[in-house]
Amino acid sequence: MINVTKTFLPPQEEYDVILKRAWDTNWITNRGSLVLELENKLKDYLAVSNIITTTNGTLPLQIAIKALGIKGEVITTPFSYVATTSSIIWEGCSPIFVDIHPEYLTIDETKIEAAITSKTTAVLATHVFGNPCNIERIESIAKKYNLNVIYDAAHCFGVKYKHKSIFNYGNISTCSFHATKLFHTAEGGALFTKSKLINDTLFYHHNFGHQGPEAFQGLGINAKMSELQAAMGLSLLPYMGDIMEGRKAICELYNKAFKNRNLQLLKIREYTEWNYSYYPVIFESEIQLEKVKEALEREKIFPRRYFYPSLNTLPYVKNDKKLISDDISKRILCLPLYYGLLQKDVENIIKLVIEQL
Ligand SMILES: *Cc1c(COP(=O)(O)O)cnc(C)c1O
Repeated sequence: MINVTKTFLPPQEEYDVILKRAWDTNWITNRGSLVLELENKLKDYLAVSNIITTTNGTLPLQIAIKALGIKGEVITTPFSYVATTSSIIWEGCSPIFVDIHPEYLTIDETKIEAAITSKTTAVLATHVFGNPCNIERIESIAKKYNLNVIYDAAHCFGVKYKHKSIFNYGNISTCSFHATKLFHTAEGGALFTKSKLINDTLFYHHNFGHQGPEAFQGLGINAKMSELQAAMGLSLLPYMGDIMEGRKAICELYNKAFKNRNLQLLKIREYTEWNYSYYPVIFESEIQLEKVKEALEREKIFPRRYFYPSLNTLPYVKNDKKLISDDISKRILCLPLYYGLLQKDVENIIKLVIEQL
């Protein structure tokens, strides 16, 4: 069976060696030495000034909204994972969907200004599949209208934009370390901000609002990463170079085979060092997508319809049509991509896809 992704697990002995430190100290959560070590190593690896690890990749979105005091309307993308929208609503704000760019698949920055009202306080946009939004344009709109910018960078581990970590952009960026993501801690995530002040605020928010054991700085929640999660991250980190290389080679096979076919591929924005996190293909029609999906599933190959349905059609939001997102989400399929996927299997996937075009 071949799934859209396969969780990379380090050799179990290596995980055990790191885990033993938690047993030796009898300390398995509350920011022990493993979490601190992981944060330090990630700071170096990603070249960021601040990081707060968290227990998943959804709480950082909610904490970011809460910590910045965002209220009212939040401009967001309909083409993302459900957590982007649900976090806005969970925090008592209203998502205002702006359609996406048909090739980059990120929020269409040229349509943001028209969606701004007197209630707009923030933009929450996703760097979809690790492909950056138009960061400069969004930043200048945010300045002009005094809006906060949060990036859902769940897919962006290792992505650089203009030679800097993509996590450096926006007021806050978030990442997911879920088992299906590029770098993982089983469940996990992180918050990033360049601002020391915002970082301090995020920090107390992720730890019940504590300021030391006997005082509280403000409202908080529990989003702490555990030592068991951090041990997974620490044992995975040395393999990230190999994982990226392996994924890159597979993407190149797909690119070569699909280049002159009747198939739309992801257009990566200029100045991006991408991370080979997903391999989406966009078919001419939903019927063609269904045919390809069935042909693959007959051979026990399971691609995924990321992202479907378009989030403006969720049952708990006001459904206003978003022509491009509605259309693309019906025609886009992510093909299997993971370290260790064999070349012969990639070639078989390519053959099965091409046969249906
Ligand atoms: C995975 C994902 C999340 C949520 O991350 P979890 O770690 O699963 O909570 C949020 N946004 C996007 C775009 C994602 O893909």
